[in-house]
Amino acid sequence: MVDAVVVGAGPNGLAAAVTLARAGLSVEVVERNDTIGGGARTAELTLPGFHHDVCSAVHPMALQSEFFRAFQMERRIELRLPEVQYGHPLDGGRAGLAHRDLEQTVAELGVDGPAFRNLMAPLARNADRVSHFATGALLNVPQHPITVLRFGLRALEQGTGAWNARFRGDVAPAMVSGVAAHSIQHMPSLATAAAALSLGVYAHARGWPVPIGGSQAIVDALANDLVAHGGRIVTGQHVRSLGDLTQAKAVLFDTSVPGMLQIAGAQIPRPRRGALRRFRFGNAAAKVDFALSDPVPWTNPGLRRAGTVHIGGTRGEIAAAEHAVANGRHADRPYVLGSEPTVVDPSRAPEGKHVFWAYAHVPAGSDVDQTEAVTRQIERFAPGFRDTVLASSSRTAVEMAGYNPNYVGGDIAAGAASFWQLVKRPLLSSDPWRMGGGMYLCSEAAAPGPGVHGMAGWHAAKSALRHTFGLPVDVDLAPED
Ligand SMILES: Cc1cc2nc3c(=O)[nH]c(=O)nc-3n(C[C@H](O)[C@H](O)[C@H](O)COP(=O)(O)OP(=O)(O)OC[C@H]3O[C@@H](n4cnc5c(N)ncnc54)[C@H](O)[C@@H]3O)c2cc1C
Repeated sequence: MVDAVVVGAGPNGLAAAVTLARAGLSVEVVERNDTIGGGARTAELTLPGFHHDVCSAVHPMALQSEFFRAFQMERRIELRLPEVQYGHPLDGGRAGLAHRDLEQTVAELGVDGPAFRNLMAPLARNADRVSHFATGALLNVPQHPITVLRFGLRALEQGTGAWNARFRGDVAPAMVSGVAAHSIQHMPSLATAAAALSLGVYAHARGWPVPIGGSQAIVDALANDLVAHGGRIVTGQHVRSLGDLTQAKAVLFDTSVPGMLQIAGAQIPRPRRGALRRFRFGNAAAKVDFALSDPVPWTNPGLRRAGTVHIGGTRGEIAAAEHAVANGRHADRPYVLGSEPTVVDPSRAPEGKHVFWAYAHVPAGSDVDQTEAVTRQIERFAPGFRDTVLASSSRTAVEMAGYNPNYVGGDIAAGAASFWQLVKRPLLSSDPWRMGGGMYLCSEAAAPGPGVHGMAGWHAAKSALRHTFGLPVDVDLAPED
């Protein structure tokens, strides 16, 4: 018998386990894969010596999330900031470049610089308040109402037909939409606007870093802390029922909602079970990784200093591509999220060589290989890219779901990140992690949703400490050195 079992060793499962172990509880984590990490793993997917991030690659939340700040992740691993946090190529060799310094970004934006400043600056100055609000349960009374009001008014503008009202050129709106599209939704919508504002603001606060060695470094740091505090991790065990688990007072699920219901549905009170069955999945991502002989030959030189590149063209083109996906079609020119971590981390590839990480948005359940579509989109802004490719590896949306059962249909957010499902994720509650009967949902399927932030795990663990164990929730997570 242990105090708590966590099903799944993704970043949220490990965040939950660390929090419980640090509170003095005995904790066991059970992971179906042979290696830990879930959406934060690094592997040689193409050629020997080329280290690719299997899922997540760029980590604004490793610096910004309250959990990782308490855990002091930046003291445990090296999180390196690129010179350009994210870039957005447009035809004709033009590009929008988001520098950490908002004023530098504004200066380079020309006619729309002041409008971009006005959109971002009041929130960027209060980025910690933005992340506090955006990574909690949205039903809770906001601690910083003025920041939330400013955020809400801007989301209403960028999430509706008024979204172009403040802009005159095409670079700034394309930049905003490039970030908004992270949420894989029809746009403009409140959900895409919330993504644009929160992630966009973090670029001008702590920045969008890349972990040296790859995303695996993040989960390894969590696992090391867990084991140092008495926790145990079992790999290679797919949990199908509660009977598969060591007996425990609390069970925390780093799984999808249906995954949790399959294992523990009978323990969860009936009205909640009904609400959980109404939880919906969204559209999908198809992954492509490249081993390169040379850096990506972006026409715009600024992009060669960017950690992340949003590839999709103008705001109108991105909206059209996302609209196609929202309607169950493959876009001719899909939105592609790309990252070249070797810009700041040469350890990812043999000397002088590079890796490029990318995924394209596709309809749920797609089995279409996106290698050619992604290559064409990159070629559009980096002619000659094709000639630098030494090898590539791809995973369709269906294969993403096979890799991780949380990604139903290839939905990498484990549940549509629509506005409504951000408010009730997965339940309309100020404690949406608590399922009842000693069961807790600690994955990205619970608030605050997708991202390597550990926040769902932290919130779920605190709920378990309060409700199942009657313990204080202020657990010290800092390194002990
Ligand atoms: C292609 C891709 C790119 C992404 N890019 C970024 C990015 O750049 N930055 C960012 O912040 N986020 C990114 N994300 C999102 C991020 O990876 C996820 O939001 C995050 O990993 C969610 O963490 P989690 O712990 O909730 O779930 P996961 O990371 O999915 O971990 C869940 C774990 O539970 C295990 N599991 C599930 N069911 C069972 C079971 N029944 N028994 C045992 N084990 C089980 C799974 O094997 C998995 O290891 C990306 C995701 C994908 C897929």
